[in-house]
Amino acid sequence: MNEQTLSRRLERVAAHVPAGARLADIGSDHAYLPVALMRRGVIAAAVAGEVAMTPYRAAERTVRENDLEQSIDVRLANGLAAIEPGDGISAITLCGMGGETIRDILDSGKACLTGHERLILQPNGGEQPLRLWLMSHGYRIVSEEVLRENRFDYEIIVAERGDPVHYSAEQLYFGPVQMQTRSPAFLSKWQRLLRERQRTLNSFAKARNVPEHKVREITLQARWITDLLG
Ligand code: SAM
Repeated sequence: MNEQTLSRRLERVAAHVPAGARLADIGSDHAYLPVALMRRGVIAAAVAGEVAMTPYRAAERTVRENDLEQSIDVRLANGLAAIEPGDGISAITLCGMGGETIRDILDSGKACLTGHERLILQPNGGEQPLRLWLMSHGYRIVSEEVLRENRFDYEIIVAERGDPVHYSAEQLYFGPVQMQTRSPAFLSKWQRLLRERQRTLNSFAKARNVPEHKVREITLQARWITDLLG
């Protein structure tokens, strides 16, 4: 992967960034996503935020080597603190981190959000707590997808501020849009996870001292997945 050839995962994230957006890519690492979008003329400007020095330097290098210092600002900052009021950010990408980490970044940086930004989130697990945060903070999930790359299932969740919305526990777990669209990638992900839950329950049955709440939790998840798959 580089700034010319994105991974399939980042290509799918890129597809949700609106044309002409002013993008903040938080946790940008090499800044491949904003640089690719700027080279393609999709976005108007970008901030690439990084909290760690090595990826920050890598992002600076990618931007410099592509002569994009005028349109992409690389900033060393924790989470949404990379965004400054004058940036006029209209889309934020947070990709390749755990869902809880993305949630924590949104929560601790919520003062930096105007509510007009489209959030394009690609959590590696922890989708349920992330969706719960979105619902609790007035965000509606407008698009979702699952994709499989290098034997990993990745989810992309796109959210925008709107009228308050209530999602059921199952919708928070599976994704409200994905439950509607039921793509082949989504169904195979949950077929795999059902087998995993069943293996876990079998091993619980043979083990001693498994906490009762753990058995209840996995049993409930297995039932939800079975119902989902019909
Ligand atoms: N977004 C890229 C992608 O999806 O390919 C890079 C993902 S990389 C696994 C995660 C990056 O997020 C790391 O470079 C890490 O330093 C950065 N990161 C983690 N927590 C962060 C935070 N609170 N603020 C800014 N960057 C953060």
